[in-house]
Parts: sequence; C-alpha cells; structure tokens
Amino acid sequence: MAAAKLQAPRGTFDVLPEEALKRRELYRRTWAVLGRGGYRPFDSPAFEDTELFKRGVGESTDIVRKEMFTFEDQGGRSLTLRPEGTAPVCRAYVEHGMHKLPQPVKVWYWGPFFRHERAQAGRYRQFSQVGIEALGSDDPSLDAESILLLAELLEAAGVRETTLKLSSLGTRDSREAYLAQLRRYLREHEGDLSEDVRARVEQNPLRAFDAGHEGTRAVMAGAPQLLDGLSAEDAEHFAEVRELLDDAGVSYEVDPTLVRGLDYYTRTVFEFESESERLGAQSGVGGGGRYDGLVEELGGPPTPGVGWAAGIERILLASETRFPGAPRPVFVAIDESGTRRAAFGLVTALREAGIRSEVEQAGRSLKGQMKHASRIEARAVAIVGEGIEWRDMDTGDQRPVTGVQEAVRIAVGMNG
Ligand code: ATP
Ligand code: MG
Repeated sequence: MAAAKLQAPRGTFDVLPEEALKRRELYRRTWAVLGRGGYRPFDSPAFEDTELFKRGVGESTDIVRKEMFTFEDQGGRSLTLRPEGTAPVCRAYVEHGMHKLPQPVKVWYWGPFFRHERAQAGRYRQFSQVGIEALGSDDPSLDAESILLLAELLEAAGVRETTLKLSSLGTRDSREAYLAQLRRYLREHEGDLSEDVRARVEQNPLRAFDAGHEGTRAVMAGAPQLLDGLSAEDAEHFAEVRELLDDAGVSYEVDPTLVRGLDYYTRTVFEFESESERLGAQSGVGGGGRYDGLVEELGGPPTPGVGWAAGIERILLASETRFPGAPRPVFVAIDESGTRRAAFGLVTALREAGIRSEVEQAGRSLKGQMKHASRIEARAVAIVGEGIEWRDMDTGDQRPVTGVQEAVRIAVGMNG
C-alpha cells in the first residue's frame, strides 16, 4: 500500500521557482525604493512572548482574540508566532535603547507572518509582509513620506488602480469624549448590531466601523464621526499630512470610517485598496498609521512612531507586471569523445566569467542533451568532445572554437 500523501498545512503554500523569482525581483525593487527613502533593513524573530502582542496589538483586536498561533515552549513560556511587525520593532527599539540613536530611527522589514484565518485567495495562515517604521518623531512629513513610499512601492510592483483611504483617529486622550458619544449611540441601536460588535461596545467601540454585518453597517452609516471631533492639534497635524500629499500629487479619499484593525493607532491611519479581481474580497494591499503611544505601552520612553505593512502575496496577485525571468543559460553538453572533467572545467570557467550556465548532469545521449538544451531555453550549447563546438541556439550556427578561453569570450560577447 502506498504511504499516505503529505500536503502543506491549510493556509500555507510552497513558492515554486517561477513564483520565487518574482518575489526576489519584488524584494530587489522594494529594497531600492525604501533604501532611497532612508530606511534601513531590520529583522526580528518569527516568534515572541505572547505578552508582546497582547499589549502591543491589543486584547480587543481580532488578531489577539482569534488569529494568533500561540504555543507553550518546553519551559512553559507562552510564545506566539508573530502576527504583525510593528510591536516587535517597538520592542526592539526599547530593548536596544534605540532612543539614543539619531532620531527618527527608520527601518524596513520583509518576512513571514502568521494568523489563524479562514484560508482563501489572498488570505493565508502564513503570509509575507513588507513594512516600514519610523520611530522618534511626530513630524507630519514622516506620515506623508511613509504613504508616498508605499505608493511608490506599489507602482514599482506594477499594482495599478489603487485607492488610498486616509483618516485621523486623534490621540488617545482627545478620543475619549468621542468614544463616550459613540458608545452611547451604539447602545441606542444595540438591537441591530452583530453580537461581536455588541460584545465590544465598552472595550473597543471603533471596531463597529470595520464590521461586515449588514445591520451593523446600516447603524454605522449614521454614527457620529471621529474626524468631526478632533482636537485642534490633531486636526492641524492631519491638515499638514494632507497638504504634503497634495503637494506630492498623491490622490486620496478621506474616509472617516477607516479605523484599522489594531488598537495602537493614533492620528493618521491609511490603507491602499486594489480593485484587482484576483484579490477576491481581500482588497487591502497595505496599510498603516501613526502609533504615538505604543513604545511607552511596551515599557519604553514616550516615543511617537508611524509605519505601514503590505502583503507580498496580495501585491503579487494584483500586479500587472510581467517580472523578468532568469536569463537564458549556456548549456555545456558532453559528446561521446568528451569527458565530464573537461565539461565541468568549461562550465566553471563560464560561471567565473559571470555567465549563467549549466552542464549535462543526467547521463543523456547527445541527442537527448540537445533536446534538454531547448527545453531549458539555452541560448547556446557548448559541445565538449575532442575539442569544443559552439552552437548558437537561435540561429542554429555551429562551429568549432579553439578552447575554453574562446568559448568564454563568445559567451561574454553574447551578453553585450
Ligand atoms: P484584512 O482586512 O484583509 O484582514 P488587515 O487589516 O488584517 O487586513 P494588516 O494587519 O493591516 O491587515 O496587514 C497589512 C497587510 O498584510 C494587509 O493589507 C494585507 O495585504 C496583508 N495581510 C494581512 N493578513 C493577511 C493574510 N491572512 N494573508 C495574506 N495577506 C495578509
Ligand atoms: Mg485581518
């Protein structure tokens, strides 16, 4: 009996070479865009103390309530596969005393994240995010800069037809009066709300704006709006962010119902949506905002911060770009009169000269090797026998060359 087949766990996927090439290319473009903006690379562990996300993301969020992969290690500590990247960056900022560095500290990251969600197109249990964070200043130009960088990244990735939604949540203190008003309003309409929203009226009434539930949505259409009640300072900050975006020619929609799924946001919040049908219901490609209280919440000095995260899989799904594949290789074939040693010597010399090249490694006949060379779309074949023959696979021209040096010279010449 055949052994039972194993499959990648639900919500995860393999990245096969063709797709992996696109990812590497996107990574290269991302690095170029974010590097130009003054952001430096940063990596954090794939798992952290569960406490970090409970405090940093917030107990009332969907992420902490339903989506975390939490486990106990052998020492009985509760650990969680990271569901997002901002809390880890803030933890690292505090842990390494980065407030002593020149401010703002600007970093970008790229890597796997984990959320226990219902798997579907554009929504996975292990997915990849790229993100940036700028810590140590509340200057509105940092908000505008981070939005511009995400716009530029999406452009470089070939994601067109995006909509940028923008709002401001005010600061925590200035939000209190509004939240009391919103709670009152929600309680008046309790009967029409989803159970989920009703259960969070006290803890996190803003979540109601994010609900998919129809009755809740109808209630929210008439709800009081936070934007109308911003403090003078918060309104001024928001106006400056918008002005910088206007100057830069970035179009956006001010959406007073945009709340984002994490508790830590203050002031600016934003999200890019894509109309691409390949995303299905998952229209959000990336989003973020300001989180001026988070570092302090995690035990650090009062430190403002702003950043975003974008989903790599969703970007690639929505991308209209045909990313270039690998360059066509030179194939080194071995004739009956040739030796493995001579062929291996030639392929090594080609690679040292910077030529992408492959050598026969499966014991095929010469005819089989020529077929293989076509299949891998080789641009030329060097046939190693008593001497070396060079065959241009596009023109079909074949001629003897004097040796390894000439073969390498021809290959290098084909590059130019
Ligand atoms: P959604 O509303 O789609 O659940 P979110 O608000 O939870 O998104 P964020 O926490 O802001 O998303 O994460 C930033 C980006 O990461 C999203 O815009 C999306 O592109 C991507 N992302 C989030 N969750 C997933 C997932 N489960 N699978 C794939 N990509 C994801
Ligand atoms: Mg989500």
